[in-house]
Amino acid sequence: MAQTADHGGGVRSLRVPIPDNPLGHTLVYVVDTDRGPVLVDTGWDDPGSWDALTEGLAACGTSPGEIHGVVITHHHPDHHGLSGAVREASGAWIAMHAADISVIRRTRETRPERWFAYMADKLAAAGAPEEHLAPLRAARGRASLPGLASALPDREIVPGELLDLPGRRLRAVWTPGHTPGHVCLHLEEEHPAGLPGHGRLFSGDHLLPEITPHIGLYEDPDDTTVTDPLGDYLDSLERIGRLGPAEVLPAHQHPFTDAPARVNQLLTHHEDRLTGLLALLTTPLTPWQLAERMEWNRPWDRIPYGSRHIAVSEAEAHLRRLVKLGRAEAVAGSDPVTYVAA
Ligand SMILES: [Zn+2]
Ligand SMILES: [Zn+2]
Repeated sequence: MAQTADHGGGVRSLRVPIPDNPLGHTLVYVVDTDRGPVLVDTGWDDPGSWDALTEGLAACGTSPGEIHGVVITHHHPDHHGLSGAVREASGAWIAMHAADISVIRRTRETRPERWFAYMADKLAAAGAPEEHLAPLRAARGRASLPGLASALPDREIVPGELLDLPGRRLRAVWTPGHTPGHVCLHLEEEHPAGLPGHGRLFSGDHLLPEITPHIGLYEDPDDTTVTDPLGDYLDSLERIGRLGPAEVLPAHQHPFTDAPARVNQLLTHHEDRLTGLLALLTTPLTPWQLAERMEWNRPWDRIPYGSRHIAVSEAEAHLRRLVKLGRAEAVAGSDPVTYVAA
């Protein structure tokens, strides 16, 4: 069953399922240009998802073989998974921000053993217990990683510039945070239904109507720079709020209006979360201990193994922010390092 929607003004969307994931599906947008349809994101790499993409495109009057180009908001597999297959079918170019292209290149070139060793060391430094590390150490040398074969883009999306879409005005807005190279894409054309505001915004995972995107660390075994992804995310949010698009076309859930109100909700959410963490940090805690005490969508002991990595990286991203703001500090001489409210 093809599920498509016509958003007017030569923009349609179709749903590509994400297998075994509560998010359900990725919204892939089809933007008409003078040289053929261009896709914003492509969906998860899975035979069923490919069928859904093909059926959705057919319902939009086109096919994978007719796609002129693919614009990717960020490197995650629910967005970029099928890009390679589309390029194979049509010869379409694939465009992505340089920082996310680097992530793909690194993932393709790094041996799985190196990743497992890196992750085990990182989690140990964050205070993870030995029973959590054991499976990672055991996995060295035999497991494969998702995204290993993900397609290398052939064009860079340059922040602030218009993309090469004949007949359309689509400008890239760099919105790091969820990933280092996440971009939103601003369609600088009047809203087809005359809604007030400035054009429409393809927001990827940066701005979603009902959920907050995961903000972790930009994991890179070759880079020891202390980044501040949550700080990047909050800055990017404010920038998007100021754009004031008439409508937001996100990559999950559904389109919505009043982007500035949603931006404010998310800013408040993160400010509340940071304040809540400070209350926990009256006693020194490792990132792992902090993650155990944070509020998640279920109790810690029911969070599955893999999701605990994500939770800990989110705790670390918040700690980085607090340290950068001077509201928390590392306890000198602690090993693994603990943090306390300043
Ligand atoms: Zn994502
Ligand atoms: Zn996503």
